[in-house]
Amino acid sequence: METRIGHGYDLHRLETATDSDAAIMVGGVVVKCGLHIVAHSDGDAVMHAVTDALLSAIGEQDIGEIFPDTSPENKNRDSGEFLFEAMDRVNSGGWAISNVDITVVCDQPKIGSLREQICENLRRYIVAPVNIKGKTHEGTDRSGAIEVHVVALLQRGNKHE
Ligand SMILES: [Zn+2]
Repeated sequence: METRIGHGYDLHRLETATDSDAAIMVGGVVVKCGLHIVAHSDGDAVMHAVTDALLSAIGEQDIGEIFPDTSPENKNRDSGEFLFEAMDRVNSGGWAISNVDITVVCDQPKIGSLREQICENLRRYIVAPVNIKGKTHEGTDRSGAIEVHVVALLQRGNKHE
């Protein structure tokens, strides 16, 4: 049995929106919090970091290489498509995901109340245990950002060696 670990990281700037109904995407969940994300795609940092952790584990190029932000087709793109593509590469390499562990660091929105929804959404792509926990920036100068750290463990049998 071959085992690989992958680490993914992403960070996006959050800005207070003039529209109090403004929403951001967090792990494929639309969260109305009066903020918007500064990004080329939909700015879903959870999706981006999970995608990168999986790509990294299987030794592929990172999300920025595969889906460049200079490409018009990636503008405002649904980040679920990036994760779908990464899962396609994971599956075609014969890999099975053991688990995915996610830490989201942001002051707003509060991740605790979104935990179940985000995990449920990610399980539409990842058929493995997914866990997510939230932390805050504790008053440091990163408070205007959403930051995500992910580790993923993958395994495959001997026939692919
Ligand atoms: Zn991103």
